[in-house]
Amino acid sequence: MIPIVLDGKAYAAEINEDLKRRSELIVKKTNKTPVLATILVGDDPASVTYVKMKGNACKRAGIESKKIVLPESASTDYVISRIHLLNEDENIHGILLQHPVPEHIDEPRCFNAIAPEKDVDGVNYYSFARTAMNDMLFGCATPLGIMRLLDKYGIGLEGKDAVVVGRSPILGKPMSMMLLNRNATVTICHSRTKHLDQKLLLADIVVAAVGKPRFIRSEWVKEGVVMIDAGYNPGNIGDSDIDNIKKKACAYTPVPGGVGPMTIITLIEQAIFSAEMKYGMLP
Ligand code: NAP
Repeated sequence: MIPIVLDGKAYAAEINEDLKRRSELIVKKTNKTPVLATILVGDDPASVTYVKMKGNACKRAGIESKKIVLPESASTDYVISRIHLLNEDENIHGILLQHPVPEHIDEPRCFNAIAPEKDVDGVNYYSFARTAMNDMLFGCATPLGIMRLLDKYGIGLEGKDAVVVGRSPILGKPMSMMLLNRNATVTICHSRTKHLDQKLLLADIVVAAVGKPRFIRSEWVKEGVVMIDAGYNPGNIGDSDIDNIKKKACAYTPVPGGVGPMTIITLIEQAIFSAEMKYGMLP
């Protein structure tokens, strides 16, 4: 079987053409350019790179990014005070707090300080609740990017057995809700799950969101599986043994070039959507 490559890089580039058009229209109608504020706390090299990539993606889509860099020693209250300033700023349309923040910071409190209408990364409890209730305003960027990629390639979800490995608030949990909303039958697995291999063998769709390089093995998935690998470990290695899994999959996301570009373009799209919402430009 020749598997379908779920090419996130190509699809993100295609979406970007539409985003450029939408951002131009906003500028033309309002004389204002959409702005995404990015907050980076500390100088973790991977986070620095992600924020830079997101800034470049803003440029490509014709929007501005306002980069706020806070010292590693910043307190939760200080980060929140900066978020409040951005919430009140009329010229900011979306706020991204780069995850993960240093350990001493209460990340959920910071995420929840982001105004719901500016939570374009979809990370606060309000956004999660709306996603879970199938009334999404802003979806969490990585799982929503995955959903868009599945739709692009016409991967049917209704009635399918999906196994999501990982239950983090920014990936596994919202991913599970989004698949459930589309009538997949979802099993959520985590570090205490027993007989993971047996559960995976029943899955039509597997989402790997574990944070462990090549964790999902090819003998754990069935012939014809749709393999979504959200993992992004050093050396461009995913959370599954994708080189072998792709030999039995009907479709798979490459690493890199699968989920990563979809995460970024979804964030940018939601920032543009936020501006459209603010200026009454929604269809
Ligand atoms: P995380 O917060 O560390 O969560 C990892 C999840 O995996 C947890 O729910 C954990 O279970 C589960 N897990 C750990 N060991 C396991 C095991 N042996 N068996 C089954 N489940 C296990 O990670 P995350 O932030 O969700 O990220 C997951 C992956 O996605 C990482 O590789 C990350 O780099 C990648 N990622 C990529 C993007 C992108 O844009 N491409 C964005 C975000 C994240 P417990 O809950 O029981 O601890």
